[in-house]
Amino acid sequence: MTVCKNIKKLIFKINKAKTNHNSIGFIPTMGALHKGHLSLIQKARKENDVVVVSIFVNPKQFNNPEDLKRYPRTIERDVDLIRDIADIIFIPDTEEIYPKGFGANIHISPLADVGEGKYRPGHFDGMATVVLKLFHITQPTRAYFGKKDYQQYLIVKQMVRDLHLPIKIVGGETMREESGLAMSSRNVRLSHSDKEKALIIYQTLQQGKEIIQQGEQNAQNVIKKMTDITEREEGITIEYIEIRNMSDFLETDEITEDVVILIAAQIGEVRLIDNIEVHLS
Ligand code: AMP
Repeated sequence: MTVCKNIKKLIFKINKAKTNHNSIGFIPTMGALHKGHLSLIQKARKENDVVVVSIFVNPKQFNNPEDLKRYPRTIERDVDLIRDIADIIFIPDTEEIYPKGFGANIHISPLADVGEGKYRPGHFDGMATVVLKLFHITQPTRAYFGKKDYQQYLIVKQMVRDLHLPIKIVGGETMREESGLAMSSRNVRLSHSDKEKALIIYQTLQQGKEIIQQGEQNAQNVIKKMTDITEREEGITIEYIEIRNMSDFLETDEITEDVVILIAAQIGEVRLIDNIEVHLS
């Protein structure tokens, strides 16, 4: 396992792998690794000769400076955790990725403007910009993204399609704690009682799914019933509940095809997102 802090050294390693015709699996992360990240890394391990993990808390994708400041950073523990499954860990500092004068910005329309994009202006541009940079540096055969960040996964897929990048984007299922809470690096910032409150997010998603599968087709009715459930829980503010078609990610009034229900919620100072896929047959 090699730890690279600069791009030049990483490219040297990548070029060596490429000359040997090795396939490269790449997992971009912001660290504070948990089982959600590990599931993606293990998937990549099975499907590629060389596994590259990046750990970079990308300031460009934080629209809230406080959130950036408080984002958990556990680099030494992270490296220990993946030492035996990754071949290369890329841990650049901010200047390495954004040297003075950096000016590029990737905007993927219309996906980056809706859903999370509306509530976190600039978030997806920052994400797409760094992911494209990391793709150019690591030249992966396959790159792995969790469906926990459903919209991010779709945006990266569109970016690859729009820009003809020769990379296969592989989606990974959302890993959850036994309680149902979606694993997230931000969970460490939740107190014990906040964590209890957060359970309502997945419970509500499951209820929404059940309501649809029982035949309710009116999206607003489903959202209303879900809101009734969340309003009973104190100390959690729901930012949005949205129902979007899985095929085109458009918001739907009448549910006639497979959909994804998405929630964003604020508990204290921590903002959490989660989603559930609903297949009609
Ligand atoms: P992050 O470090 O939060 O930027 O996440 C890095 C990658 O891990 C992204 O592709 C996320 O979607 C994915 N990821 C985060 N949490 C989970 C989870 N609970 N299950 C599966 N993948 C996840």
